[in-house]
Amino acid sequence: MSSSPAPVVAPVRERADACPGALQTHAAADGGLARVRVPGGVLTAEQLRVLAAAARELGDGHLELTSRGNLQLRGLPVGAEGELGGRLAAAGLLPSDTHERVRNVLASTLSGRTGGGHVDVRPWVRAFDAGLRADPALAELPGRFLATLDDGRGDVAGLAGDVGLLALSPTTVALLLGGVDSGLHCAPDDAVALALDAARAFLAERAAQGSTAWRLTELTDGPARVDAHLAPGHVRQHGRAVPVPAAPVVGPVGAAMQVDGRTALIGVVPLGRLSADQADLLARLAAEVQLTPWRSVVVPDLAEDAVDDAAVDLFRTGIVFDEASPWLQVTTCAGRPGCAKSLADVRADAMAAVASRALPAGGARQHWAGCERRCGRPQGGVVDVVATPAGYDIRIEKD
Ligand code: SF4
Repeated sequence: MSSSPAPVVAPVRERADACPGALQTHAAADGGLARVRVPGGVLTAEQLRVLAAAARELGDGHLELTSRGNLQLRGLPVGAEGELGGRLAAAGLLPSDTHERVRNVLASTLSGRTGGGHVDVRPWVRAFDAGLRADPALAELPGRFLATLDDGRGDVAGLAGDVGLLALSPTTVALLLGGVDSGLHCAPDDAVALALDAARAFLAERAAQGSTAWRLTELTDGPARVDAHLAPGHVRQHGRAVPVPAAPVVGPVGAAMQVDGRTALIGVVPLGRLSADQADLLARLAAEVQLTPWRSVVVPDLAEDAVDDAAVDLFRTGIVFDEASPWLQVTTCAGRPGCAKSLADVRADAMAAVASRALPAGGARQHWAGCERRCGRPQGGVVDVVATPAGYDIRIEKD
């Protein structure tokens, strides 16, 4: 890896990592908030049914899709963690109490099902998650630590992962550190072990710096110093680092033909709020679905004669398949009443702006937030619509 000309001064995190999980919930203004990690965004139909029932019976009736392909339940009463944890564990959604918050894994959408990638990353997702859970030391990773597993189509490599794998060809995989190609390359079969070693190297370097950093790029010279822990040799070699493709601002939408002749439907969930009824419908349509970082859901493996009916059924519930829909451009934070910090009901305001075709900034990609923290802001060029005491402030800036 080429090193920076001058050390980067690491910012200091003052707060302990309080990232919510399924067991360590966050006390929000509308009740408990539980975040369920979904490695690779893949849920079986039965897991969806369990989540839908939990949302209906324990929460506010919705599942929130996050920018990391995870799910959140809101409005949980005090003491519901035990009941929720038991349900999730029985459904295979909580395979580790100790590591549940660190299982943040984004994977290429439809990898192995549609063309565009060099490898099928689904086995990587399973192996990386299993490797994380098998190492007690990796339970110390911050809850915000993110792995991106990109099959070469370039959809998730640019989503600011701490460690990442990017297939450069069917035989070569690049290790990304802080979203940049480290120059360490290996064969696909060795890639997961390298990524896990990089996660351990992050912890080692964080300890060496006496840091409490949540993200690899928050360490002083993070990518270079983590790279220095990863001695090349045996199966790893330094190659020429390649530019990492920028993540698309919006993900794919509509119907995608799979390599096996079947079809996948990809629909955006407005505001990322999936109702329990929508989740139940998804569970009836496919054996598994994939959640994406663009707050959409993928219904794969549809036979030709089932596609139209599935699309109509989902459309009727509010799932969006139109590439021109404003819902592809708008994301929000929770806002009021869920967040006590919020200065506005941003979801209601964004919905009203969409309905009246009065989105600011000409309808450009935009994120509405109830305060300056701008939770859930997507990567890339986004217009910020931030609530202030004087109304919404509209800011056009780049990451
Ligand atoms: S951006 Fe502010 S108002 Fe919105 S969820 Fe985050 S802390 Fe709450």
